[in-house]
Amino acid sequence: MLKDDLFDALCEIPVIDVHSHINRERLCAKGAGDILFYHMLQYPLRSAGIEAEKLWPEEQKFHGAGQPFEDLDKAWPYVEGGGFGVIVKKIFEDLYGYKGEISSASYPEIDEMVKAKSAQEGRAAEVLEKANIKAIYSSVRKPAPEDNPTPIPVIDTYERGVNGRNNESFGLEMFLSKFGEHYETDICCIESLREAIRAHFARHDLTGIDVYVSWKSSQVSWERASDIELDRIIKKSKSGSAVTAEEERVLNGELVWSSLEHVRDQIKIFQMCYGTQFTTRTPAGAIQRACPQYASGMSRLIAEFPDIHFNIMNGFEADEPEWCSLCTAYPNVSLAGFWWMMFYPSVMHNAWNRRFDMVPTSRLMGYFSDGYCVDWVYGRALMTKMVLANVFAERIERGYLDLETALNMAKDVLYNTPKEIFGC
Ligand SMILES: [Zn+2]
Repeated sequence: MLKDDLFDALCEIPVIDVHSHINRERLCAKGAGDILFYHMLQYPLRSAGIEAEKLWPEEQKFHGAGQPFEDLDKAWPYVEGGGFGVIVKKIFEDLYGYKGEISSASYPEIDEMVKAKSAQEGRAAEVLEKANIKAIYSSVRKPAPEDNPTPIPVIDTYERGVNGRNNESFGLEMFLSKFGEHYETDICCIESLREAIRAHFARHDLTGIDVYVSWKSSQVSWERASDIELDRIIKKSKSGSAVTAEEERVLNGELVWSSLEHVRDQIKIFQMCYGTQFTTRTPAGAIQRACPQYASGMSRLIAEFPDIHFNIMNGFEADEPEWCSLCTAYPNVSLAGFWWMMFYPSVMHNAWNRRFDMVPTSRLMGYFSDGYCVDWVYGRALMTKMVLANVFAERIERGYLDLETALNMAKDVLYNTPKEIFGC
């Protein structure tokens, strides 16, 4: 079948992973839980019946915090055919040769199998080679590369921006007080906010870092307010009065404007996680959302920083048309692969069709893993190639493409474009 031939051809193409949380010291999964309770799979598992308290046992402790394998039978049968369930089964099958059942009874055996393989010499290299990954960007900057040689380059990014607004259950007042506390500043006016932002960037050294990764509130307005207006909003919040939604949006926007002003001489790329928001204090309440003025209004910011390249990791399907048009309207925007609630085969399939129609492949990146272990780096690369094979097969059958053009497009999005834009 055409899609199978395409899939085989895609597996031969080298791949760059432009966003992950891989730790150089420990590249492989520590056990089966790191694979089965991948952070994006926790949500369908919870929805199917595993208690939130078990999946996220401590407040704000996020990735892979809870691995309640004893409750697997309650939920796994209902999620194994969904997007992330399919990936889990492929990981076990392709990387471990395991095709047996996944249940609370079989979990200890699977766990032993993962631990044994992960401990093998050269295991990470073997998995990365199977996925044909040539370089990985990672937010985990310690330990230093010289102390931990890796089979392929693992390149540092900076992911600790002034972004305390990714959790809407914290009001503006709490954000300002926590952020101020962290930098020993009482944020009571615009000048003290700027002081805290300066202290933040003074504390974090970006030498040698090209990529600034950031995750912002889903509520942002890019109409930059005057200092008088910002001062008024901060004082209003500080006095305990409720600020309006628009005032919050304006202040959230200002955090980004000011951050980029601080880093513009140092970084090349602003990589933005877009469109997933926590609406509860624990990680349980994650939804896809962005206010209407967010994506479209970003043209102001993009135009103001022509020296920074904006690489968008979109997790909010409804804004795909906005992002595609921003790519075509400005020279300094590209789309990374798909984030969180867009990383589902059906959603990616539709989005690829639009992206390939609207955006040149020199602005499209096919893949990032968001992985914490090479097993998921492999799993997400595999799903990406499966989806691309289906999309290209469909476009060829509809008469839009020939095979050669399809493979050239695939080489661009998986390798050439990230290499060119990230310069790795
Ligand atoms: Zn991430």
